[in-house]
Amino acid sequence: MKNACIRNSCHILILVAWLLLCTPASADLHGWVIGIDPGHGGTDPGAVGPTGLQEKAVNLTTSLGARAFLVRQNATVYMTRTDDAILSLSYRANFMNSLDVDRSICVHHNASGSPDPNWHLTYVAGGDAWATSGNLADDVTHRVTDWNGLGFGWSNCGREGVYEENFYMLVYTTMPAILPEISFISNPEEELRLYQNRYCYGNGRGIFYGLMDHLGGWDMVSSTSDPDQLLIPSEFGVSQNYPNPFNAETVIPLELPQRSRLRLDLFNVQGRNLGRVFEGIKNAGQAEIRYNASTLASGVYFYRITAEGLERDGSYSDVGKMVLLK
Ligand SMILES: [Zn+2]
Repeated sequence: MKNACIRNSCHILILVAWLLLCTPASADLHGWVIGIDPGHGGTDPGAVGPTGLQEKAVNLTTSLGARAFLVRQNATVYMTRTDDAILSLSYRANFMNSLDVDRSICVHHNASGSPDPNWHLTYVAGGDAWATSGNLADDVTHRVTDWNGLGFGWSNCGREGVYEENFYMLVYTTMPAILPEISFISNPEEELRLYQNRYCYGNGRGIFYGLMDHLGGWDMVSSTSDPDQLLIPSEFGVSQNYPNPFNAETVIPLELPQRSRLRLDLFNVQGRNLGRVFEGIKNAGQAEIRYNASTLASGVYFYRITAEGLERDGSYSDVGKMVLLK
């Protein structure tokens, strides 16, 4: 009997060891926090194409594409902007640092005084401290150019399509960071491609694929093939507001399967209704409500979000908790 027990526990140990060996260390991107910074915005259009397409818009579309793919693989994604906000570089770097993101991606498109140039280049900070950034830049560069078919710009660090440059967002962030210049908006044919959301989403998918290569997330991938389908979620959803605690502005991310009317009501800890602080209509896809609580005192608040579908039947309601610290 004793021998049988020892033999059985041996079998169990072997089974456990086998499971450990066979179980991927990282099943998908669950637990990874990715920060995406669409370059420029507001009064700063960035580079402008020959017929007037603005880089700030293309950067945003590409970033929203990357986010949609990343969220499908369970990554946590924070974006410095999801609309036409104007943000300083120090705000953008602080955003990444204070939210403790694991990887920071600043999305840009390049421009030249001549119409001819059109290639891809990913910038990283120079030096050994940024070796991980260089590895990520390698993966993103290869995946993005797989999609857009472009060649690489001149390299100064021995990595194809990667250039070392101590840009603000690369050296003032505390995590591995890259700044891909996806393509040249100043090239007339490229500008025509960049007008198409589907093309930009494909570049966003290249960023996502590069992160999957870099972080080892390939073991449990659900379907990620169609850039068009990925951007519309199948169900309503509300994520935790960020930052939280906050002072005085916070963002509540939403997933909307259809164009919806949204309401945000606020309650104190005693459950007293403090009134409606947002009401408006948002399109299907990844949306968000920005709430500025500068008129409130520090404390814990609850919010209720209700969404009412405007394209077909469907409504949704959820409650969250936020902490205002002034
Ligand atoms: Zn730019």
